Amino acid sequence: MVDFSDDELKKKLTPEQYHVLREKGTEAPYSGKLLHNHEDGTYFCEVCGTPLFKSNNKYDSDVPGLAGWPSFDDVIKENVVLSDDDSLGMHRVEVTCKVCGSHLGHLFDDPSSPTGQHYCINSVSLNFKKEKS
Ligand SMILES: [Zn+2]
Repeated sequence: MVDFSDDELKKKLTPEQYHVLREKGTEAPYSGKLLHNHEDGTYFCEVCGTPLFKSNNKYDSDVPGLAGWPSFDDVIKENVVLSDDDSLGMHRVEVTCKVCGSHLGHLFDDPSSPTGQHYCINSVSLNFKKEKS
């Protein structure tokens, strides 16, 4: 795992990004710049640049309460860690970057997802790069 110092990250990230990625925060629903992004490309970890999601796995969820963040039905599995999160008095599965340990979002079940899985990910955790055509 790559360890970034807090000082380094506070310089590199906005306060909102720092809060989400390093303090397991959540961006406000429907606020994220990537929520309605439908371009072809790859979503990378904002901190370390590891590829995490492909645009062909992004979809629009129907589930109220989950639809306010970018939704993916699959992930580049070798690059993330899934772990139990029992904070806020509920059980969720937390999604973190395997390389730098940054918080990305949570994994839920979702009947409107093509795979039944819903990776609910903060826009500020992701750096989107468009595919060159
Ligand atoms: Zn990372």
